[in-house]
Amino acid sequence: MSIIEFHKTSKHFGDLKVLDEVDLAIEEGEVVVLIGPSGSGKSTLLRCINGLEQITGGDLIVDGISVRAGGRKLRQIRQEAGMVFQQFNLFPQMTALQNVAFGPRKVRGLSRAEAESQALLLLEKVGLKERAHHVPSALSGGQQQRVAIARALAVRPKVMLFDEPTSALDPELKQEVLNVMRQLAQEGMTMVVVTHEMSFARQVGSRLIFMEHGKISVDGHPAEVIANPPSDRLRDFLQHVE
Ligand code: ADP
Ligand code: MG
Repeated sequence: MSIIEFHKTSKHFGDLKVLDEVDLAIEEGEVVVLIGPSGSGKSTLLRCINGLEQITGGDLIVDGISVRAGGRKLRQIRQEAGMVFQQFNLFPQMTALQNVAFGPRKVRGLSRAEAESQALLLLEKVGLKERAHHVPSALSGGQQQRVAIARALAVRPKVMLFDEPTSALDPELKQEVLNVMRQLAQEGMTMVVVTHEMSFARQVGSRLIFMEHGKISVDGHPAEVIANPPSDRLRDFLQHVE
């Protein structure tokens, strides 16, 4: 069984079909890089995986549970699929440590002391132990995004979903975030990453997917697909991102 299975999955917003009968299976440990023009449905595809958007057709199974299940099962899926957004979405009034400790206290019912000692380890992992007691506004964008990654990891997800995690960052800050993501991939985390960082796709991705109009149009090995784009539209797209 694959950890994520799209079965003719569709998503409509009113009359607009944003995901069009997507079939896709993602195995544990894969690092899937998702690219495509603006509006092609990349964010929606990610958001359906953790139930932030409800699918309107077909089925979508995450770690054996259908996102259609609702209730407690949907909460379980949300826990298993951590999400990192372009805008870091940290709680502004909380310190880095409190941001990371929040989920485990709420979702896993840990005591404050337990949650905070785990949170400190996670901040260390993303290179921010020394910034634990700073609020987000006192951190750089790259540091905030690393806190957001630590926060997502804190509830022990099986899958990490990244939606253009470096798009809001200055070039010199992108790398520190990409390095944390590279480390996660090396540890075997299953990841689905929307990004236009093609060097990351080539070096870290195990699979590259090109989406157009809510459909998967290319699915292959990153280095091969980049070196030999199987469609003119992908070739044009790659020329514009690199
Ligand atoms: P991408 O991430 O590839 O740029 P999105 O998944 O964000 O694409 O959006 C795909 C399409 O769905 C776009 O046309 C967008 O305007 C539309 N869309 C996204 N979210 C909503 C929403 N909540 N309500 C209506 N339309 C939406
Ligand atoms: Mg998007």
